[in-house]
Formats: sequence, structure tokens, C-alpha cells
Amino acid sequence: MIKAVYPGSFDPVTQGHMDIIDRAVKVVDELVVGVLVNTSKSCMFTLDERVEFLREATKGYPNVKVEKFEGMTVEFAHLHDAKIIIRGLRAITDLVSEMSIAQTNRYIDDTIDTMFFATDIHHSFLSSTVVKEILAFNGDISGLVPDCVETMIKNRKLKQ
Ligand code: ADP
Repeated sequence: MIKAVYPGSFDPVTQGHMDIIDRAVKVVDELVVGVLVNTSKSCMFTLDERVEFLREATKGYPNVKVEKFEGMTVEFAHLHDAKIIIRGLRAITDLVSEMSIAQTNRYIDDTIDTMFFATDIHHSFLSSTVVKEILAFNGDISGLVPDCVETMIKNRKLKQ
């Protein structure tokens, strides 16, 4: 039974994240997506919204769970009995920071390893930041986030 965690801010979840989830579940038996409680980035969506978006978007995956977490990723991995941390790489610039995060995690706990997935070329420009920038100008985010998330974001705007 291979378990993995996929940590991130997911503010909001994008099709880039979904592609990584879709590919990761083909190589692990169980994937726990960890939504960071306190991220250094300032979030547009609340923690509960970020979790709700992900739960809705991953409804069709029986082996994916979505949980909030704070603190160190290796502790989150231990909590779920996972030995693998999944991360996605969009460009060489991601590799620079991701290498150091992966090495730090291994320094803290060498029983846990990081597995990287190179983004699909269609998603290499895509980040939560890009989605938030388009939203700030009332632009169209269809195709950039899962359809259900686009609907939830539209409904949220109507309520505001
Ligand atoms: P963090 O704040 O931890 O970087 P993100 O939500 O921005 O959290 O990203 C979570 C993970 O998903 C990271 O490993 C990031 O590189 C990866 N990721 C984000 N966007 C994409 C994308 N378009 N393609 C592939 N991986 C991505």
C-alpha cells in the first residue's frame, strides 16, 4: 500500500494541480491532498473554501482525500502514514526552490522522499496566481480551473 501526500496552498485549485493529482493516483494507492492552513502567500480564498473546492473537484477519485494541515509537511506525511511527498514542476525556476524544500524535508526525515511530476505543457503557464489575476479583472477562468470550481467561484461572487 503506497501512500502519498500532496501539499500546497491551492488558492484555488487549478487544472495544473488536477493534472498532478490525476497522474499521482496512477502510481500511488492513496493520496492525501494537504491544504496549508497558514501559507506565506496571501490567500484570496478561505481555508474552508480551498478545501471545499478540492473536495468537489476530486469527488470522482475514491483514493484521494483532502485535509487541512499546518506545520511541517513531513509531520503531515507521518500523520497519514505516507512515505512520499508529491510536488509538481512547471519550469526550471520551480526546480530551484523545490530542490531545496525536498532536501530540507529529507534532512528532517530521511524516511520520506519527494516525487516530482513535470507539468503537462498545456499547464506550464498556469498557477493559482494567474487565476487570481484574471479574476481580479473579472476575466474568464474557464478551462483554467475545474468546471465545478468555476461555478463555485461564480456563486461566491454573486453572494458578495
Ligand atoms: P505552494 O504554495 O506550496 O507552492 P501551490 O498550490 O501553489 O502551493 O502548488 C502546490 C504544488 O502544485 C506545487 O508543487 C506546485 O509546483 C504544483 N503546481 C502548481 N501549479 C502547477 C501546474 N500548472 N502544473 C504542475 N504543477 C503545478
